[in-house]
Amino acid sequence: MYEKIKQHIRDIKDFPKPGIVFKDITPALADGQCLQQIVDIFYNRFKGAKIDKIAVIESRGFLLGAPLAYKLGCGIVLLRKPGKLPSEKIKEYYNLEYGSAALEVHSDSIKTGERVLIIDDLLATGGTTEAACKLIKRLKGNIIAMAFLIELSELSGSSKLSSYGDVVSFLKY
Ligand code: AMP
Repeated sequence: MYEKIKQHIRDIKDFPKPGIVFKDITPALADGQCLQQIVDIFYNRFKGAKIDKIAVIESRGFLLGAPLAYKLGCGIVLLRKPGKLPSEKIKEYYNLEYGSAALEVHSDSIKTGERVLIIDDLLATGGTTEAACKLIKRLKGNIIAMAFLIELSELSGSSKLSSYGDVVSFLKY
């Protein structure tokens, strides 16, 4: 099953900057059976984990986190790029494999002690997800795990994140 999904992920060289090989998951999202398999892989891993909230990282994390939250019957918390969220929010800055950026979250989106699963499409250096973890911790959420469809193993992102909770990835490159 993982092989079929891998066949629907393509490498785009030098995007968005020279030297970066971008893992493009849009062919996997465009194939109905493949998309179902991806969501089911996440679901089977977390169905017993009593997750209260899935924190989804903009923007490809939204696409995987939303159907997963529906299946798990839990809520969604949006971790968004600056300037997108309308209400009171907090912010964390981070470095990306190709630049620097920040994430914001609504201050009232997680209650103290809620069990949170962070979802994104891909783990590279781990900077994005570390910012996500810092936001969740500031809101006193209980980070159960961070889960990714893809991990770029040579960038060692999982070692940066392991102190925050379980790091789960399904396709390693
Ligand atoms: P990082 O913070 O370095 O772990 O980068 C992870 C974030 O950047 C995720 O939201 C990914 O979608 C995106 N990203 C980083 N590197 C790549 C890549 N080579 N291909 C696709 N997306 C990437």
